Amino acid sequence: MGYDDNNIFAKILRNEIPCNKIYEDEFVLSFHDINPQKKIHALVIPKGKYVDLDDFSQNASKDEMAGLLKGINTVAKILNISVDTGNGYRALANISEDGGQEVPHLHFHLFGGEKVGKMVS
Ligand code: 5GP
Repeated sequence: MGYDDNNIFAKILRNEIPCNKIYEDEFVLSFHDINPQKKIHALVIPKGKYVDLDDFSQNASKDEMAGLLKGINTVAKILNISVDTGNGYRALANISEDGGQEVPHLHFHLFGGEKVGKMVS
């Protein structure tokens, strides 16, 4: 499946619709999920046009890959859920239909601020 320029996260990246921003750099944008499933529910997305983690893994540059992982850690620190703040969190990416992905722009969910519970329900 090709990248859909009209997906909601593409619109957020183009500032066409607002988000509650947590962090932004050259490689990533992070913002709070509009429908939080835990006390803290953040999203971290690459700025590049990647549909899902498979697309990203095959086509992103090494700098983009490092930037996304670094971005996740930076956001976790900002939110005080990272290990070095004495806490922890779950990072999760849904991939395509069987994985439950709804928005076709790669994103990692960061859940925290409480015990996040069973991995799959
Ligand atoms: P997925 O099911 O694709 O892994 O997750 C998509 C996530 O995007 C959902 O948790 C949903 O609540 C969130 N979401 C959908 N539309 C918006 C939006 O317009 N703004 C924000 N901040 N989150 C959104």
